[in-house]
Amino acid sequence: MKIKQKDLKVAVVGAGIGGLATALRLRHLGYQVDVFESSDSFGGKIKELRRDGFRFDMGPSLFTLPQLVKEIFDSYHVDFDKAFPYYALDVVCKYFYEDGLQLSVSSNSSKFAEDAEKLTFESRQRILKFLRKSEYLYNLTSTPFIFNKLFSFSNIFSWPFLKALLNAYRLNSFNSMHEYNKGYFQDKHLVQLFDRYATYNGSNPYQAPATLNVIAHLENNIGAYFPSNGMFQIPVSLYKLACENGINFYFNTKVDAINIKKKKVKSIVVKGEELNYDVVVSDVDIKTLYKKIIRGATLPKRIEKHELSTSALIFYWGISTVFPVLDVHNILFSQGYKEEFENLFQLKNIYHDPTVYIFISSKIVKTDAPEGCENWYVMINAPENIGQNWDQIIQTARKNITEKINRVLKTDIENYILFEERLDPLQIEERTSSWHGSLYGMSSNSVGSAFMRHPNYFSKIKNLCFTGGSVHPGGGIPLCLSSAKIIANHLSKTIIR
Ligand code: FAD
Repeated sequence: MKIKQKDLKVAVVGAGIGGLATALRLRHLGYQVDVFESSDSFGGKIKELRRDGFRFDMGPSLFTLPQLVKEIFDSYHVDFDKAFPYYALDVVCKYFYEDGLQLSVSSNSSKFAEDAEKLTFESRQRILKFLRKSEYLYNLTSTPFIFNKLFSFSNIFSWPFLKALLNAYRLNSFNSMHEYNKGYFQDKHLVQLFDRYATYNGSNPYQAPATLNVIAHLENNIGAYFPSNGMFQIPVSLYKLACENGINFYFNTKVDAINIKKKKVKSIVVKGEELNYDVVVSDVDIKTLYKKIIRGATLPKRIEKHELSTSALIFYWGISTVFPVLDVHNILFSQGYKEEFENLFQLKNIYHDPTVYIFISSKIVKTDAPEGCENWYVMINAPENIGQNWDQIIQTARKNITEKINRVLKTDIENYILFEERLDPLQIEERTSSWHGSLYGMSSNSVGSAFMRHPNYFSKIKNLCFTGGSVHPGGGIPLCLSSAKIIANHLSKTIIR
């Protein structure tokens, strides 16, 4: 009898975005899917907080490439626009510099270039040329490096991979982002603005290869979006679709062990019981997985040694007034950007003048705050947790953050804070099992980073697949969704038993 996918059972460990997307993609192929989640709900790092009439997205705030979510809805013939309404943002981000410059970056690249030309020393043409280069990088690298398994026969011998290799000299891999941007732009404001894209996957622009300038394309050319019910709507809508299509969820159910024998997962251990599945998909941080859950295989050395991405310190403030000068996404830049990254990566500390990100979803989703109020998500980058004295670091950082806000926005913010909640590296680690509280798994601080991430599947453990932000192609919602797609493509062609 020919075995089909519908005869096979999959266990997904973890209901983060990667786990949810993989569960849905495999269910669509016909697999019977059970999802085990150690916490009491789905979403992983994508969570929300409600308090006193305010709603806050707690984790991700930037939403790009919505078509990766749409593809999943389309495969189930569900009207995406109805199931998942979202806005395209007119202003991608508003930047504030301590010298008084305020620059709103329009999602229309021509308008952005025109506005920047008026306010800085940079010409419109140079900015547009930079964005065209960014698009070129995306077109060259996305298929071989983001939407496919890197070291697969079909990828390596494909035209997109070959084309990327032939044009390797144009990828600017051997310059850091900062070196490249400093050489390209005359105006330091734009250097800092484009350097900041390294932080979109928790990296350091003074070390990360300039190939990462590809990230600017996502926001400035393709566009930035926002779900009309907030970022948490992403896992909510996927979870709903999963339940409607027969995927089983087990919350408060930690997978304590994955037993490997003869290059295969023999069983998973849940609440003391050994369960058998044909395929197991892990959405658990890769370091946590190998160090604490897998029995019978060890973490590859290259991953053990690789530098982690940054973590974050976030304050959620109910604010009793409205700041018309602010937009949905706002950046108050540090005056010592290089020192800020040296602190994060070398000293594992927080610089005294950190770049402050203020995200206010109530600017666009009016119900996220009571009338006349705003929901402030105030975030700074933080180092991975290596056992620092966090109480002291957080106390100092909070003081520096409020002073910076007061200086740049010419206010006294303490007067308007109705209440405060917090998320720090320790909590991120504890709540999502993210190794050292890193947000995006491995950093992209070296040329080889893209080639070093753990693959989504491999022959060493045939029926174990790996999804989520700590494996290929990397962290952030779109890349997690891509990892799910790569696994589904593989399992649609291969029957593993
Ligand atoms: P995770 O979210 O890491 O979830 C893993 C799940 O596995 C968790 O629910 C955990 O409880 C569960 N689990 C762990 N161990 C076990 C076990 N043994 N058994 C069962 N379950 C287990 N990305 C963006 O695209 N844009 C942004 O603006 C952005 N900003 C961010 C800001 C913050 C503060 C944070 C924290 C993240 C941000 N990210 C952003 C990154 C993005 O959230 C992550 O890359 C993505 O959500 C990770 O998803 P994941 O699939 O790897 O799973």
